[in-house]
Amino acid sequence: AALKKLPDIDASKLEITKTTSPKEPRPANELIFGRNFTDHMLSIEWTASDGWLPPRITPYQNLSLDPATCVLHYAFEAFEGMKAYKDSTGALRLFRPDKNMARLNRSAARIALPAFDGAQFIELIKRFVALDARFIPAQRGYSLYLRPNIIGTQRTLGVGPPGSALLYLIASPVGPYYPSGFKAVSLEATTESVRAWPGGVGDKKLGANYAPGIVPQMEAARRGFAQNLWLFKEGEEEYVTEVGTMNLFAVFKDKATGQKELITAPLDGTILDGVTRDSILALARERLVPEGWKVTERRFTMNEVNQAATDGTLEEVFGAGTAAVVSPVRNISWRGKLVDCGLKGDSEAGELAQRVKGWIEGIQYGDEEHPWSVKI
Ligand code: PMP
Repeated sequence: AALKKLPDIDASKLEITKTTSPKEPRPANELIFGRNFTDHMLSIEWTASDGWLPPRITPYQNLSLDPATCVLHYAFEAFEGMKAYKDSTGALRLFRPDKNMARLNRSAARIALPAFDGAQFIELIKRFVALDARFIPAQRGYSLYLRPNIIGTQRTLGVGPPGSALLYLIASPVGPYYPSGFKAVSLEATTESVRAWPGGVGDKKLGANYAPGIVPQMEAARRGFAQNLWLFKEGEEEYVTEVGTMNLFAVFKDKATGQKELITAPLDGTILDGVTRDSILALARERLVPEGWKVTERRFTMNEVNQAATDGTLEEVFGAGTAAVVSPVRNISWRGKLVDCGLKGDSEAGELAQRVKGWIEGIQYGDEEHPWSVKI
């Protein structure tokens, strides 16, 4: 028999059941990341025989899963992290949601979960955000963190491709990462464990990549560091990959010419393809290169960073991700020494980190009209 094409997500089939017990949004200053959720959730079920079923928005509620559900045993789970912003006119905006949809599809495909039409899912996200918009504080720096999650729901202990799945989205209002201005962090380079390796899944946003990162993070915290820096060791060289759950950028200054270079690790499969990373690279190529900067994606090592710090050519280092946009780094503990990352005096952020934050937030909050900001 000819294979029949199964239905994809169809936003026009959305069914909405509103809550009958609306929550009181928490005061903006009491928000803790990922602890408070809005009134509703968005869910779309998939089965191998029927494809994607009609999407539903329902009151936020518990899932009911059989104890044998495959996600609970074999980690069939991939997720995204993105935000909705309220601009100065009160309009709601997403930031490059197509990038999150493409990444979620790549992550899901790697663990045999079904692909879906990202554009249709974005339509549903818009409906959802509009419905729960009253949870987004109007003040600058606040936003609604959106968490799309896809899980395998087949009830089986057999190890195989899930015959059913659930794609759902929940949302948590969040405050600014730095409520009272930048705070530069100290990192500990982790050498005992690796986050990702060539041929692995470090470039996918799988839950299974995150649980093993907690113990190294706790070790770093126990020694007084805010985050751990993931290295990838090859022979004697230790390549800088990413920091905690952020991509990492460094600024080097050429000693002879004074030319500045913005550098970050390449997408070689061992780092996540961050939306913030991609945005910073694109804006830097557009805005910094004409000022004489070099913008480079290449592998670089802790030895290089340390050498630059010693030579006085390390200008600044910062992490980049959806949560903070940029997170300046004061120093990195590595091989028993503290590598100073170039912040002048008691300054909490380098020049570029501040500029980049301004560029990206300007687009996210609609101060600068830009195709990346998608109005709801
Ligand atoms: N690396 C890792 C491991 C992450 O979890 C994240 C957060 N998604 C990032 C980098 C930054 O990605 P993005 O800019 O898309 O938030």
